Amino acid sequence: MNFDLTEEQIDIKDAVRDFCEKEFTDELMREYCEREEFPWELSRKAAGLGFIGIHFPEEYGGQGYGYFENAIVTEEMIRSNPELGIPLVFADFGTELILRFGTEEQKEKYVPRIAKGEGLSAAAFTEPSGGSDISKRLETVALKDGDDFVINGSKTFITNANISDFIITICQTDPEASPPYRGQSIIIIDNDTPGIEATLLKGKLGIKPSQTCEVAFSDVRVPQENLLGELNRGFYHTVDFLNESRIEIAAQGVGIAQGALDRAVDYAKERHLFGKPLVELQVVAHKLADMAIKVEAARLLTHKAAWLADQGRPDPLISSIAKTYSARAGVEVTDEAAQIFGGYSFLDEYEIERFYRLAKIIEIYEGAKEVQKNNIARCLIRL
Ligand SMILES: Cc1cc2nc3c(=O)[nH]c(=O)nc-3n(C[C@H](O)[C@H](O)[C@H](O)COP(=O)(O)OP(=O)(O)OC[C@H]3O[C@@H](n4cnc5c(N)ncnc54)[C@H](O)[C@@H]3O)c2cc1C
Repeated sequence: MNFDLTEEQIDIKDAVRDFCEKEFTDELMREYCEREEFPWELSRKAAGLGFIGIHFPEEYGGQGYGYFENAIVTEEMIRSNPELGIPLVFADFGTELILRFGTEEQKEKYVPRIAKGEGLSAAAFTEPSGGSDISKRLETVALKDGDDFVINGSKTFITNANISDFIITICQTDPEASPPYRGQSIIIIDNDTPGIEATLLKGKLGIKPSQTCEVAFSDVRVPQENLLGELNRGFYHTVDFLNESRIEIAAQGVGIAQGALDRAVDYAKERHLFGKPLVELQVVAHKLADMAIKVEAARLLTHKAAWLADQGRPDPLISSIAKTYSARAGVEVTDEAAQIFGGYSFLDEYEIERFYRLAKIIEIYEGAKEVQKNNIARCLIRL
């Protein structure tokens, strides 16, 4: 693994930074947050520059890069502005499942529109009775009826579900299976199918432009050809997907921590107390040093996880460690940054307020930190 970015990767990083500096204006962010509306225009522009699905193969509209470059894009967008960056990096959430397990027809039908920014994807695993236990008997049931599946049940916290082209949904296809996870399958549900009701969950702590929804399925009829991967292997496909997709979440942690550190360094240089810049108080300087240690370590772990995935050797141990460490780094670094800003961190006029507020979610979604530690321990015991 090379610790330096290649020239091409530096160009990608610079291009994303330029894009964010130009497009992520404070005014636009406030508008989208207030309206709790997805930033379509920004998303289309980002896709036009190749930033959405940068790791998708070129034949399906992507740029043919890997998880490493996707981590670079993610970090830069979130570092610039997490309120807008997170919705954009989730524009293609779950599409990797189609690329990994889909038929040629499914890839051609669903992926290019996402990579071009013409549509969004959604992937539904979490149910109201708990998202952490993905091995349980699912409440969302898909039963065969003629050539179709008929789906009933509900999911919650589903990103993009009210505006996506399709919802990749994990369902119980064999309600009698024991253990239950051996009877789960993944089905692509076109979002215009009758019987789907997606309701936006309003009033989130942050990332309000990201559409987080409750979804109810009532007698939703889907052709059996929409099965994604193998029947009753959905749990295993989901585990494989999450092992890789959590690398992007780790990169979100790096982005939020780096963004908070940047702002804290600038502020500590400008702010004068006791007749000198804040940064000259050793306690503050050491805080900044500790924050930088966490950011660097989080980035190295994330890059290692991404590099392994790009070598065709995704490592669940490393991706869970990267996600757990980076998410914690995000929480701790934003907390210290807020401390350095003092009372000003409490005003939404200052960017640090949003970094502090948004960091927590990275420790929760795509596997809470306790779930990650279970994964890590399981890998260690197996080793
Ligand atoms: C903004 C947002 C976007 C999201 N997007 C999506 C999406 O697109 N698709 C999707 O499917 N889901 C999505 N989620 C759901 C998210 O993945 C879940 O919230 C998460 O997996 C936790 O599930 P839960 O909220 O049901 O908490 P629960 O499963 O009820 O867990 C609650 C808490 O219990 C603790 N806990 C859980 N398991 C263990 C354990 N084994 N040992 C010890 N402690 C434990 C953890 O602290 C955990 O936070 C999203 C959530 C949010 C908030």
